[in-house]
Amino acid sequence: MKKNKKSSGESTAWGKPKKKLSGKVKILIITLAILVAVVGIAGGVLGFMFCGGEHMHSMERISARRAATCTAEGNTGCYYCADCGKYFTDMSGATELASPEESVIPALGHNIAYVEATAATCTADGEIAHWYCPRCETAFEDEEATTEIAAEDLVVPATGHTEDGGEITSSPTCTADGVRTYTCTVCSVIVRTEVVPALNHDYSVTKADVMQHWTECSRCGDEEEDSRRYHDYISSYDTETCSCGTEITYSQGLAFTYSAESDGYMLSGMGECTDGQLFMPPTYDDGANGNKPVIGIQDGAFSYGADGVIFVRLPGSFTFIGERSFFMCTSLSMIIFPPVLTEIADNAFYGCSSLENLVIPASVSHIGAYAFEQCNAEITFEDPSGWTLSDGTPTADPAAALREGEELFKSAV
Ligand SMILES: [Zn+2]
Ligand SMILES: [Zn+2]
Ligand SMILES: [Zn+2]
Ligand SMILES: [Zn+2]
Ligand SMILES: [Zn+2]
Repeated sequence: MKKNKKSSGESTAWGKPKKKLSGKVKILIITLAILVAVVGIAGGVLGFMFCGGEHMHSMERISARRAATCTAEGNTGCYYCADCGKYFTDMSGATELASPEESVIPALGHNIAYVEATAATCTADGEIAHWYCPRCETAFEDEEATTEIAAEDLVVPATGHTEDGGEITSSPTCTADGVRTYTCTVCSVIVRTEVVPALNHDYSVTKADVMQHWTECSRCGDEEEDSRRYHDYISSYDTETCSCGTEITYSQGLAFTYSAESDGYMLSGMGECTDGQLFMPPTYDDGANGNKPVIGIQDGAFSYGADGVIFVRLPGSFTFIGERSFFMCTSLSMIIFPPVLTEIADNAFYGCSSLENLVIPASVSHIGAYAFEQCNAEITFEDPSGWTLSDGTPTADPAAALREGEELFKSAV
């Protein structure tokens, strides 16, 4: 302001001297300057705006600032100053607009692009082909974006797995479950597994050794519990072939002597035989005396001489067992007497400490002294009646008498 004042009456920038201003004009200028200063200070405090340092706008908002979208116009914002009749984009009046219409920002239009169809898989949804604007995240049927497609209508649902018929991937055994695996024929993923129950044993195979038959599993060979039975011919003298089909096999190599008196053979020892189970033959032929019955066991035949023999089946032709015939045969545990046996002589089974249950046939009528001495066998009489001790005293319990070493007789009926 001072500058204005100072410049008055001096040369201007144009270098052309001017007339001195009159006192009235001076006062007017000073008054105006003071007014401008006051209004300028007030504008700073009250929000009036200066324009180019010469004018304080009094702004009125015509439209708010907003961004344009794909489909909606935007606006730069528009302010109007009634004082100067101008439009601006902002409150500060930095950018002038020619008109309120100039503040309008046109809609952007969709930024549309084609999206190929995606096939659905077993587990993932697919999508139909469509047009898509990523700016507004909207799908359309057409490039012109006239028909929208809802997001859920784009989806081609996952197909789910297609199960095959299943394959045994772990075979069941007799005792263990197996596994059947179902696979997807499309994507090869394992869809599920299923237990294949254990087969259980198939006890359909009959097995036999010289003594017994039993059944086994056809698959794993497991022996069926409680299926072992002695062959029919072990305890029966009616047959030489068991119901299981096994035939008795008589021991070979045993020693015999011919008895002219009886016109038969007597077993006299193990000979060349090494069997642990002796199936003594009912007949023999020594090549000189012909094929004749074997009628008994000679005195002392196997005394100390049958180590390892655990079983003896006497032939159905046997009538007597001689003295000490099995003396101290400590491994012998089982002996089968024929139903025609009449005599078991003195000390016949003395010291046969392994002998288990044995049955005295009803045909036996004489058992010698100490026949079963030092045996632990459980002795059963098929017919316990009619027995007497050597002094003629009857005994009702012949088994107990045997344990005492008594000689027993059965009177002929
Ligand atoms: Zn203005
Ligand atoms: Zn869009
Ligand atoms: Zn699949
Ligand atoms: Zn089995
Ligand atoms: Zn059998």
